[in-house]
Amino acid sequence: MKTAHTFQIMNAISDTVDIKLDIEGAADYLNMSQSKIKRLLDRKILLQVWYEGWSRDRSQQFFQRFFRFDKSVSKIEQGSVLCQRNGSFELIRGFPKIQRAMLLGPALENHFSKIKTVAVEEKMNGYNVRVADIGGRIAAFTRGGLICPYSTDRAQNLLKRDFFDQHPDLVLCGEMVGPDNPYVPKDIYDVESLDFFVFDIRHKNNGKPYLLHERRKLANEYGLNQVTFFGEFSLDDAPDEITRIIRKLGKVQHEGVVIKDPQMKIAPIKYTCSQSNCADLQHAFKFYNDVGRDYFFSRVVREGFQSVEWNESEAELQKRCLQLGESILRPMIESIKQVKDGTRIADNVQIRVRDLGIVSIYQEYLRRLSVDTIFSEPESIGDEYLVKIKKINQSTNDKTESMCKGELW
Ligand code: ATP
Ligand code: MG
Repeated sequence: MKTAHTFQIMNAISDTVDIKLDIEGAADYLNMSQSKIKRLLDRKILLQVWYEGWSRDRSQQFFQRFFRFDKSVSKIEQGSVLCQRNGSFELIRGFPKIQRAMLLGPALENHFSKIKTVAVEEKMNGYNVRVADIGGRIAAFTRGGLICPYSTDRAQNLLKRDFFDQHPDLVLCGEMVGPDNPYVPKDIYDVESLDFFVFDIRHKNNGKPYLLHERRKLANEYGLNQVTFFGEFSLDDAPDEITRIIRKLGKVQHEGVVIKDPQMKIAPIKYTCSQSNCADLQHAFKFYNDVGRDYFFSRVVREGFQSVEWNESEAELQKRCLQLGESILRPMIESIKQVKDGTRIADNVQIRVRDLGIVSIYQEYLRRLSVDTIFSEPESIGDEYLVKIKKINQSTNDKTESMCKGELW
């Protein structure tokens, strides 16, 4: 399921700027006027990345020199992070939005009309993380440009240093996937805990991406996990090939594909399976009053377009309607029943750590993001600890409770 919801919460953080940004240096580096930088700071578009929790190992001082863009500014994407260090700067560019094909055939023809072939990769369902080395430390940035302590800890464990030692100027963009996942837990992949799958490698500062095949080669050389590559197809073959892949992925509950220009000049587009769409709805309708309405609406519309493009028979259409209806109504009914019976509904997720210190840092991080949670006592598994987290969906609980007491909508 996508991270849009988390992303919204993250943007609601009210960071404070207590380490001074070198405005003159930043203006020079970003090729902006000093007054523009000041304006961005005043309007809280350029915000200090909050990192209090890390003071334990002096990271506080270190990470507090990061500033994130809460909105796109000129050519700098939302979620970009400006790192100030020893009088010099680095910019980790925000990960660009990927547009969606609603009707696969026409979208491919229209969007990729200037090229001959497209490459198809699996779209994995987890959460987006950009991993970079800043002054010898690996940091994992969320979509909004925050440094997630859990993801950073996992990235430091999962990725060997050699890639960054030899390529300090590169950013690994990938999906954090697996069950020990506080944002999008899934056990549909062959991942025991949490793993990082690379789908892009970009340069710091200008954000220039590696060409697709060069990126796959480079990731392979360092033994990094990568998203599955399904092949490169001519534009004539692509619609049928991708439809075939989508039907297969749907059967195993996987999410879909991202279709890319191998030269990475034209922006990629995404296309997803109905099953994953319904799984998203099923999860979201449990917490119907906490999730944004666009989230539901866009997913219902997708079903309409896919059904038309696939020219479905009456029987197939009935199956789709039933599936869509069930993924909306059943979880919601379950939630209403629970609240009516006096149980609070919550989203159950879990994290796995080696160092228990990370748990309290992560707890504080979520608190700062106004995510209401209950952390369970750590259970040890092997040389690690598993911590279960209940995310309380206050709004759905309150709304349902008041409806049960007879209040009007
Ligand atoms: P966006 O703003 O990019 O649409 P979103 O939060 O709405 O993001 P999604 O609908 O999940 O997210 O689609 C885009 C995301 O898919 C990317 O941000 C990335 O995290 C994820 N992704 C998974 N696999 C791939 C892949 N092979 N190539 C590119 N992105 C991928
Ligand atoms: Mg996603």
